[in-house]
Amino acid sequence: MKDKAKLFSKLPKVDQVLSNDNIKKLMKRIPRDIIVESIREELDLLRKKIKDGIIISLKELEKEIIKLPNNVTSNANEKIKPKFKRVINATGVVIHTNLGRSLISPKIIDHIKDVTTNYSNLEFDLDEGKRGSRYSHIEEIIAKVTGAESAMVVNNNAAAVLLVLSTIAKEKEVVVSRGELVEIGGSFRVPDVMEQSGAKLVDVGTTNKTHIWDYERAIGEDTAALLKVHTSNYRILGFTSSVKLEDLVKLGERYNIPVVEDLGSGVLVDLSKYGLQYEPTVQESIKAGVDIVTFSGDKLLGGPQAGIIIGKKKYIDEMKKNPLTRAIRIDKFTISALEATLRLYLNEEDAIKNIPTLKMLTTSLNELEKKAQILYRKIDEKVEDNISIKITDQFSQVGGGSMPLEEIPTKAIMISSNNHSVSNIERKLRKFHTPIVARIYKDNLFIDLRTVKDEELDIIAEGLKFAIENV
Ligand SMILES: *Cc1c(COP(=O)(O)O)cnc(C)c1O
Repeated sequence: MKDKAKLFSKLPKVDQVLSNDNIKKLMKRIPRDIIVESIREELDLLRKKIKDGIIISLKELEKEIIKLPNNVTSNANEKIKPKFKRVINATGVVIHTNLGRSLISPKIIDHIKDVTTNYSNLEFDLDEGKRGSRYSHIEEIIAKVTGAESAMVVNNNAAAVLLVLSTIAKEKEVVVSRGELVEIGGSFRVPDVMEQSGAKLVDVGTTNKTHIWDYERAIGEDTAALLKVHTSNYRILGFTSSVKLEDLVKLGERYNIPVVEDLGSGVLVDLSKYGLQYEPTVQESIKAGVDIVTFSGDKLLGGPQAGIIIGKKKYIDEMKKNPLTRAIRIDKFTISALEATLRLYLNEEDAIKNIPTLKMLTTSLNELEKKAQILYRKIDEKVEDNISIKITDQFSQVGGGSMPLEEIPTKAIMISSNNHSVSNIERKLRKFHTPIVARIYKDNLFIDLRTVKDEELDIIAEGLKFAIENV
């Protein structure tokens, strides 16, 4: 106890650390308050080490005190860095909601910078010289790409569904199949959104089967819409049947009731051409005659977070007038990124090549194998004896609640260890200066090459070296 008291008394005071030359220099770059906070934290750490008996001699303490200015500098540097930062996605889940969903195409970054670091015609009609609409910029391109009559965009697809229902079905009834009352991502539940919008849910059919006459029987005086929800994140298999969109549209027409479809992901290219599972496209819904279609901007479309509402002009115009629109409106970042992303769709080849989500989903096994070889060679030399690495066949996922059953063959680096758990390696990778998020399955760690960029291979090799050496 006495020895500890002596060590505690040898710890420098905050002011003493502040007068260190390196810390004085640091003060030119980093606010004093932040540096003081870092000094306090680093001194607390030393105090804890003394208390826990990790530092037991004066000599050891002196060594630690010499390192103090350096540690304070790193600590303070961390404090001024943004907490929201880039990570490397090695999970193979392409639309990873926790890791930011779709990546913005680097091809459009200059444009985003141009219109956001300068003034813009966000709400200014340059022809008329008066106030314009922020939606005008994207309406035309959305209509062109999807074939819809009219369009608008809100904060996300959940907001889109909310706005649609609140505009056309407030205090009225909306008929929806029981098999489509889905929950997406834990925070979007069809019945809850419906309740928020003020619409009354009339669920028809059963979990596995809903027939057209189920809808027809539910139609009454108060019916404001027939809603179809794309069960994007799960499938009911086996003895099932749901109503074809075309049939629902016919029913809606017969009773003069609008048909609304929440497509969820909203894919604009038929991905089955590229070897993926068929997923109904936005264009097909419009062609089928659906009155209002909603979908996300940052799922399979591969753009920024947004909720896109397309369909008949008379309904879209009503939505623009709904006061709710103001609360869920998109800002100029979204408008610039969405418009530029959609413009890439004018040529399908451009879209596949330049929209990261589509590019990753369509990368060939051959290319992935090559990438795996390059990474393998980079890490093979760095690996210790008790760690094994090899290239294996794995499956990537689309993610974002899209195509839940789709398993896309991929190549991955598999890391196993016989003397320590790979979860330690996984944790260290997450703590790397550029965090690397990998996947663990049955005590093996996987680096899936599908979601990894070429220029990230060096960082991963470095990160693995760091992680393996420090487990
Ligand atoms: C993802 C999804 C939503 C929610 O979309 P966000 O853009 O995340 O708000 C709603 N409906 C369906 C069917 C979805 O797949």
